Amino acid sequence: MQRQIADCERLAESRRWVVADRYVDDDISAWSGRRRPEFERLLLDVRSGAIRGVLVYHLDRLTRGDLRELESFVALCEELGVELGCVTGEVDLATSAGRLTARMLGSLARYESDHKSERIRRKHLEIAESGRPSGGGSRPYGYEDDKVTVRPAEAAVVAECAKRLLAGEPVRSIAQDLNERGVPTSTGGQWSPQSLRRMLASARISGHREHRGEIVGPAEWPGIISTEDGAKIRALLANPERRTNKAARRYLLGGLLVCGHCGEKLVARPRTGGKRRYACARGVGFSGCGKTYINADEVEHFVTLAVLHRVDSRDLQRTMERRRETAPDAERWWKEAEAANEQLEELAAEYGRREITIGEWKAARKEVESRLSTARKQLAKLTHGGLLDSYVGHSDRLRADWDNLDLSQQHALVAAVLDSVRVGPARRGYNRFDESRLEPVWRP
Ligand SMILES: [Zn+2]
Repeated sequence: MQRQIADCERLAESRRWVVADRYVDDDISAWSGRRRPEFERLLLDVRSGAIRGVLVYHLDRLTRGDLRELESFVALCEELGVELGCVTGEVDLATSAGRLTARMLGSLARYESDHKSERIRRKHLEIAESGRPSGGGSRPYGYEDDKVTVRPAEAAVVAECAKRLLAGEPVRSIAQDLNERGVPTSTGGQWSPQSLRRMLASARISGHREHRGEIVGPAEWPGIISTEDGAKIRALLANPERRTNKAARRYLLGGLLVCGHCGEKLVARPRTGGKRRYACARGVGFSGCGKTYINADEVEHFVTLAVLHRVDSRDLQRTMERRRETAPDAERWWKEAEAANEQLEELAAEYGRREITIGEWKAARKEVESRLSTARKQLAKLTHGGLLDSYVGHSDRLRADWDNLDLSQQHALVAAVLDSVRVGPARRGYNRFDESRLEPVWRP
């Protein structure tokens, strides 16, 4: 930078210009689209007439590859009669030939910058597509340091966890179990639900290479679980509802309680002081009667016990059998999700081979991704049903697992057996929890 300033000053001296000021924006802001305070100050000084000429070291110092910026800067200087000079190349921006040269230089600079980042992106994509492991990072669980050779003891753990997850067990409870058994992570630490989720959702364990969160092809290393199971797990864990509902749904019975007085659904309405409560809300945006309130902890506890009891009933077992027979949908949605995933892989490969442009790639991807997300949503619904499926007739197991399920899973289980609960009026002067107010409507 010092040398460039010195060069500019020499040029000014040879032109017998008096140097009024120096404008230096730091290099990092180049191409990144960040603001350039010094360039903006230069513009102000040109506009105000404080300076009569501008010398730059190189045109890309001035324009940062943005041709529109160059055009408008040149136009401004022309209009105000401000002279321009350039240390390298000495482009005379006062002539049309000079301006043409400037534009070409500007567009060349932009091309080089785009090209460089594209080259880096392509390099990573190529490595990914060839199936080689990426450099850096710690040893992947289930594999040796070379990231290719399977480590049998850990591979068994991977397979076990995948199986349990697909059977409906929450990630958190699996992680807890591993820690209790003293099974460490690849770095010797304890499993967190996040680290276990990351491991299980990785394309690696099914022998696939991932790039920017998407599978780009088969990997150099062998898979530990099948491609099919890998796709199921990824669909299961990638479903954003699963992640976000936990925070949003602190009320287990949201949408399930109905006011016995007016028939509206009760909504979460904590008391001032924070005690959780459901209420038939009245006022702006609500159409309830405002007469029914019920303590959340008590009603949730009671309904949960009723649901656990219901899980063992013959009625529910018959219902589930009927549903299984009439809903072969899961297969269809797995296939849809798989087909979409394959198509995404194929598109990435075509782009990699330069058979399609990046624009075509993006356009095609959008369509496929929307189909994938539909399939995932359907699968999530079915998976909740599947969760119930594994507990029907085993309320003891459900009871043991209940606290380890997250709220969205608990809600799904409750909603799978319970249509709604009518909440009748509170008895006057009766302070204890009054279960006679509750009238469950079980799903047929
Ligand atoms: Zn009401």
